Amino acid sequence: MVLESRWKAPIPKCSLQQWVFGSSQGPISDKKLYIDPERPDTHFLTKADYRLLAKRVALGLQAEGIKPGDRVLVFSGNNLYFPSFFMGVLMSGAIFTGANPTYVARELAYQLQDSGASILLVAEAALETAFEAAAQIGLPRDRIFIFGGDSTGAEVTRVQTPKPGKSGGKNGARHWTELLSGNLSKAQTWDWIEPADPATTTCCLNYSSGTTGVPKGVEISHSSYVANGVQVTYITALQEDHEAKMARTRGLAFLPMYHAFGQTYFVANFPQQDIPVYVMPGFDFIKMLEYIGKYKINSLTAVPPIVVALAKHPIVKNYDLSSLELIGCGAAPLSQEISEEVEKLFPKEQQVMVRQGWGMTEVTCTCMSWDPLLLGTNNKGVGELMPNCSARIMELDGKTEITKANTPGEVWVTGPTLMKGYWKKPDATRDTTVVGPDGTRWLKTGDIGYVDKYEPGAIFHIVDRLKELIKVKGNQVAPAELEAVLLERPDIVDAAVVGVTIQGEELPRAYIVMADDSKATEKEIAEWMAKRVAKHKQLRGGLVFTNEVPKNPSGKILRKLLRDRAAKEVGDS
Ligand code: AMP
Repeated sequence: MVLESRWKAPIPKCSLQQWVFGSSQGPISDKKLYIDPERPDTHFLTKADYRLLAKRVALGLQAEGIKPGDRVLVFSGNNLYFPSFFMGVLMSGAIFTGANPTYVARELAYQLQDSGASILLVAEAALETAFEAAAQIGLPRDRIFIFGGDSTGAEVTRVQTPKPGKSGGKNGARHWTELLSGNLSKAQTWDWIEPADPATTTCCLNYSSGTTGVPKGVEISHSSYVANGVQVTYITALQEDHEAKMARTRGLAFLPMYHAFGQTYFVANFPQQDIPVYVMPGFDFIKMLEYIGKYKINSLTAVPPIVVALAKHPIVKNYDLSSLELIGCGAAPLSQEISEEVEKLFPKEQQVMVRQGWGMTEVTCTCMSWDPLLLGTNNKGVGELMPNCSARIMELDGKTEITKANTPGEVWVTGPTLMKGYWKKPDATRDTTVVGPDGTRWLKTGDIGYVDKYEPGAIFHIVDRLKELIKVKGNQVAPAELEAVLLERPDIVDAAVVGVTIQGEELPRAYIVMADDSKATEKEIAEWMAKRVAKHKQLRGGLVFTNEVPKNPSGKILRKLLRDRAAKEVGDS
């Protein structure tokens, strides 16, 4: 039985830039939008700056030969200009793809190659990694631009850069301000490229391993992105005192903007509603606490480890968090106990609520969330379907529908935010999506969940994961990728990686079969891995030498068996 959302929201047919800015020219807010929390008086961008800078990026990309459909990769933490660069890519008709700034060269090279990006924007601190990755796949150094710098928003947006001799290029890479069109009057009057069909035009490739295998580029269309923004704003508008609450809302962007979660909130939704965003380069718990008090942040967009830290860290009580009203959390499971612990930290009158949502890169971002009017009555679970979305709960055979409340099965979802498919991987797309008799495409989420009732407004509970994916601090870790890296060593003859939860944190744990003559130690293999994968993918859940990796007759790793074994060996009970 198909579960429908209670709400229908009209979705405009336009590009993401059109939805965020309204028009490519003409009046637009000149209030501070993106603010550096360390230097709020000098380092900021207004929405007008945001749009103009994005247009200069777009013109600059065009001058570099970028055409609609080309890919541009950003490998950087957050900075004030990240959203402008993102939007500039879209305005030029190209496709944005962002990589985790902690990646090592091998991981970056994979995404560069897989996406076919022809321009790479990189934070200065990661330049050597970028050079190494570019060399691996043959991307010339003059296609690499160094991102960031210490300029004020005004300098970057209004000054005709670069100044002679001060470009900030290095070893063959150019500074990103060299890319910006210096022709400000042209940028002012230029109209961005509006896609002929926003529903079929890809704007983003966000990488996800999905239910199985290595990371793949998830093709998100302009319409899907707009739909996700409309859904979130629709639900928010249901709250009591909406206008007053919006007027005091301020975003604190510590979630990375290369990822769908950070992108949708801080690059699209908040700016669309003219909500100021304090941009942090990355997550820093103490700074987050400090900024909440200093800038009267009332709504936090977070992932579970941050909520856990709020619940457990004794230092929290030293900070003024009296402005907080709502803590939104997604990307991985959060226990009800932790939610309640956090809510209890605050005086009753403050009515702080922790709201868990559920989403997936393959549905742009969030797909289930809470009706604000229901919060506080029962916020167990991940909420209900966002507007225009539908779901089914299926037996694991993928054929039989479950129609009984409180009975877990695999969650399938559909709606306007569903990905177009995996970039250049039609087989993976076919394996993950099912086309129903009426032509509706359903996403097999690989998550196990149930609903509290079979009618619109049903609350979803996610209880387990059927898919291989491991989530470390909200970041994806694909076992297939780690297994392939392990198997690159000639002395490892077989390998399987599964997640294990230790002290509430999910971590990758490997079971490996060594060649008979190998003398390699656990430490040696861990060090070898450390050079080949980002920190969050390292085998902190342990490395176990074993005689055999359990497999079914067709050679598939029996992951459930290994997960159970890992949990018995070291996991939380
Ligand atoms: P990503 O594509 O990186 O956003 O990861 C999506 C996956 O994260 C989902 O399929 C779930 O396995 C997990 N996830 C996201 N939100 C939640 C949540 N609230 N509870 C449990 N798992 C979640």
